[in-house]
Amino acid sequence: MAKHLAQVEKKEPALIERVKSFRMPEIKIKALSSRRPKEKQVSALSGVMLNKTLDRSFNPYDLLLTILSLVLLCLAYFLPTNGLIRLLSFLVPFLMAGYEYLYEAFQEAFMGIVLGRELIITIACLMAFCAGAYFGAAAIVVFLKIADLALAYVEDLQSKKLSSLYALRPESAILTKDGSVSQIKASALTAGQEIEVAAGEIIPADGTVLEGTSVLDASALVGGSLSFPVAPGSAAVAGCTNINAQLKIRVERSQADSVNGMLIRAAENAWMHKSSQERLLQRVLSYLSPALVLIAFLLAVIPSLATGEWRLYFVRAAILLTVSQTYSVVQSVKLGYDCASAAAAAAGVVVKGHDVLESLSKAETMVFDKTGTVTEGEYRVKEVFPKGVTEGQLLFLAGAAELQSPHPIARAIVAASGAYASEITAEKIDETPGRGVSAIISGSCVYVGNAAMMEEHDIRAESPSIPGTVIHVAVDGRYVGHIVLEDAVRDSAFDVIEELRVEGVETSVLLTGDVHSAARRIASSLNFDLVKAELTPKEKCNSVEYLMSNRNVNTTLAFIGDGVCDDDALRLATVGITLGAFDKPQGVEAADAAILSRDLRALPKLYRLAKRAAKAAVEQTVLCGAVKLLVLIFGAAGLCPLPLAVLIQTLAVLVESWFASRLLHYDGEHRILILKKGSR
Ligand code: ADP
Ligand code: MG
Repeated sequence: MAKHLAQVEKKEPALIERVKSFRMPEIKIKALSSRRPKEKQVSALSGVMLNKTLDRSFNPYDLLLTILSLVLLCLAYFLPTNGLIRLLSFLVPFLMAGYEYLYEAFQEAFMGIVLGRELIITIACLMAFCAGAYFGAAAIVVFLKIADLALAYVEDLQSKKLSSLYALRPESAILTKDGSVSQIKASALTAGQEIEVAAGEIIPADGTVLEGTSVLDASALVGGSLSFPVAPGSAAVAGCTNINAQLKIRVERSQADSVNGMLIRAAENAWMHKSSQERLLQRVLSYLSPALVLIAFLLAVIPSLATGEWRLYFVRAAILLTVSQTYSVVQSVKLGYDCASAAAAAAGVVVKGHDVLESLSKAETMVFDKTGTVTEGEYRVKEVFPKGVTEGQLLFLAGAAELQSPHPIARAIVAASGAYASEITAEKIDETPGRGVSAIISGSCVYVGNAAMMEEHDIRAESPSIPGTVIHVAVDGRYVGHIVLEDAVRDSAFDVIEELRVEGVETSVLLTGDVHSAARRIASSLNFDLVKAELTPKEKCNSVEYLMSNRNVNTTLAFIGDGVCDDDALRLATVGITLGAFDKPQGVEAADAAILSRDLRALPKLYRLAKRAAKAAVEQTVLCGAVKLLVLIFGAAGLCPLPLAVLIQTLAVLVESWFASRLLHYDGEHRILILKKGSR
């Protein structure tokens, strides 16, 4: 051990120089989302929502045909014709707008789907035709077509918003093996293979750069401007564009398991996780719709037999049938959430389900992890306080032990220590989250961690003389000094906490494994309501659990972390949101929503979007429910003619589609002015 330390000593002047001048290489984040350039920024998360709300997609030909059928319907209404000619004049727009419905009705009848939407509509039309209400019969399909087109149009806008997702997942990759190159399917890439990515190409799978230096552009992936230099040893994130020069990369994860693949998968499956409102609506409608169909048939039969006025009751029954089957609010609510998810995705935020947006909209408690979330997570060694060893030796010991840790503290110590370049390696490295690492270096047992870790091993640590995050080092039970690091609070953090408060967050909480002094300083400067420090990841979970059990009814708790050592808390919270997810697959897996960029300002935007989506869903439900109820009552009582009944319902769908389409605008309106730091 002494021999090795002497070797380090020789290099010491150079090491100390590096400690003093060192800053972690910073990833340039230009023009973050709120200042996003005007040009179309489409994110990786595009293409999502593959499930179609409707089985028809929007096309201009359909629109033309529908407009034509509407014109012909109006002409037929005003034409002074009678008898068969009049029937024929209504049949033309009916068939033009409704041939697809008729075809599907036949299919449903053939397959025995008795309550199929198209079949019920066709029956309603036939009843109206039989009763001589030609105008009403044709109006049913023409207006239904208009409503379907409106929903399909919004769905089309939503798909377009997401269309570039798959463009960020290249289909092929150039494999290099034993000096020869071959083209293979990118989806077949496996860990350990070596690939070449030319300048201008997209990285097909997560890996590590082996040869070449270049700049990777992650803008399309994170929905904001983000580029960073890479060199041998750097991570190459799938979905980033290689800007400058060819890179040789060792694949670390298959395409499906790469960040990009996980994001696509999460976004594709979002619709499966329905909001509780969607589930409730679906359950209610699964009883209500058949009940209405039954009532409609009873209305068509019993009063007709009793009074003989069957034409009158057939038309009323047709109204009930349209209310029962057409213009489903479930479609528009789903579309609203889909639009919101698409808008978030296009802005670089993965939302894993409609239920996530719904839960987030009710979040009144927001719990933040400190390092990497509220702070930049880019530690810098501030000062080294050795005891019985030299500065270089202390740094080297800490660096060698931390070499494999992904923790930001470890990265800063490693970079300042020169341990990369050394032949001395640590063995039996053991990392305790929220505490530190232990390792065997040249036969000696080295502990590198916080005061709690030292206490656990009965090592008397010195109190730090300057503020900052303190990491103590001990060798074979002997205290050899501490390293003080600092990490800057994010510029946007104050504004973000204030903005969230104005938007509806009642309690903001800061949880950290760092020391009390550092935690309190940050919490008070950012106006957090509660702060808890010196927590292990397990204790963070306990705090989250406690806050969850003490929250107001009907409200939720969101935890925001950076995906480093906070997976459990992310899973435990009602809504777990991970920040800076573009190069952290583990965080994406554990979280309900992932902000790809490291811009904390995306959080209030997401919160606002969730609130708008939940509000729109309620508005859509109330509007649809009210319209249907009125049509039902007045229609059954004979006070609302059939054409008016279908027209009103169509207008309601147009308004609902508009509500949904507004959610495609991620930012929405800002209800507050951004507060400037210190203005409170
Ligand atoms: P935060 O709660 O601020 O996000 P963490 O839970 O990641 O921080 O870490 C809490 C504390 O645990 C750190 O401030 C540090 O004292 C200690 N720690 C965690 N990991 C390491 C490590 N690899 N090396 C040294 N100390 C560590
Ligand atoms: Mg952390």
